[in-house]
Amino acid sequence: MTSRNKILICGAGIAGPACAWWLHRYGYEVVIAEKARALRDGGQNVDIKGAGQTVIARMGLGERIDALGTGERGQKFLDADGRVIAALPRGAFGCLTSDYEILRGDLASVMFEATRQDCDYRFGTAVTDLVDMADGIAATFADGHVETFAAVICAEGIGSTTRPLVLRNETGFRHLGATMAFFRIPAQPEDDGWAHTVNAAGGTYLTLRPGRAGETTVLMTFPSGNTDAAADGPAGRKASLRRALMGRGRVAERVAAQLDGVDDLYAGPMSQVRMSRWSKGRFVLLGDAAYCPTPFTGAGCALALVGAYVLAGEMARHADCAQAFAAYEASVRPYAGAIQRQLNPAVIRLFHPRSRAGIALTHGVERLIASRPVQALARLGDTARVRRVADDFALPTYP
Ligand SMILES: Cc1cc2nc3c(=O)[nH]c(=O)nc-3n(C[C@H](O)[C@H](O)[C@H](O)COP(=O)(O)OP(=O)(O)OC[C@H]3O[C@@H](n4cnc5c(N)ncnc54)[C@H](O)[C@@H]3O)c2cc1C
Repeated sequence: MTSRNKILICGAGIAGPACAWWLHRYGYEVVIAEKARALRDGGQNVDIKGAGQTVIARMGLGERIDALGTGERGQKFLDADGRVIAALPRGAFGCLTSDYEILRGDLASVMFEATRQDCDYRFGTAVTDLVDMADGIAATFADGHVETFAAVICAEGIGSTTRPLVLRNETGFRHLGATMAFFRIPAQPEDDGWAHTVNAAGGTYLTLRPGRAGETTVLMTFPSGNTDAAADGPAGRKASLRRALMGRGRVAERVAAQLDGVDDLYAGPMSQVRMSRWSKGRFVLLGDAAYCPTPFTGAGCALALVGAYVLAGEMARHADCAQAFAAYEASVRPYAGAIQRQLNPAVIRLFHPRSRAGIALTHGVERLIASRPVQALARLGDTARVRRVADDFALPTYP
């Protein structure tokens, strides 16, 4: 027999635990299956503004998250050997560092801590089969045991393996023409509390940012036609990162020298997930698994939080899964689509100049943006009032 209220969430990233928090509040019993053996707490600073920030406030987690701010001082643009080209202090126009920042891993830990007492977390497992039935959905787990749930929420990120069990033909990707990777390396004295951005030869783009004590977080992207996240396996992925780092200057080679010690590599094609539908029967997608916008939008976490809040709210509002999932998709799809449309392969090419002339031009633009006249003009224009798409979502209110 299925408990009418027992929900399975696959994936303990950001969207899964956030949705679990709301579902528990609405009286659901929640099981969370995570493929990794422990919580994946990697990643760089994520910027949560607008509706995502409101979700956090409604969860009562605002103060905890404020307290975990990275204190990043701003962004420096460096040449490939580490010499400073230009600097944008926190708050300056064009600066990556925002006022409301938290490490993605700290956000994941906060969500986990807020739910671990009330939800049944199962690490090191994944679903291998799903069968939708009249009175529930039967999930087979990696160890062979079968359990029936009222609904399955798939929040497994871009590379979800449960998604194709139900929605293979409905799954599409929009590749933006680059490979991306996030990982952590040991900090060195040159890591001075600023974000360090480097455009190296061949289009390799690096941003090194302050992480937890003794750690520096790395975002690395580079042009590539590779569109298959799983193709190379972890060793192959490290080898391709190493190829994009070698001979690309001192900063890149420092990163390459640390690659062997990287233990939680998040890497793959920079692609957006474009689903023709987000649910089928008792199965529904959430977060990156449904509508990954890619980290270059800076909105993936906010979107995951908003989706989690709306999905749980609609499930509480409608007894029928199909109605709840349709209402969730109708509400969140336009917002997710608007965020995805902010990026296209041409924008990504601009971030990855390959030639010496292209890199010199990029350095020129960085100097110009950091110059006093441009900063003064930006202040006159009151850029703080320019609302980002990510801030533009009117959160519904649920009981
Ligand atoms: C280690 C890591 C580091 C990241 N770093 C950054 C970053 O620095 N900046 C940024 O903008 N975005 C980063 N992201 C992506 C970011 O978290 C998402 O874009 C966004 O928060 C949406 O979250 P999500 O919960 O939908 O997906 P994710 O955060 O990707 O979480 C998905 C979770 O599902 C798990 N999973 C995958 N397959 C299965 C399966 N078959 N069964 C069960 N569990 C499964 C994964 O292990 C992961 O824990 C990172 C993601 C990860 C996993």
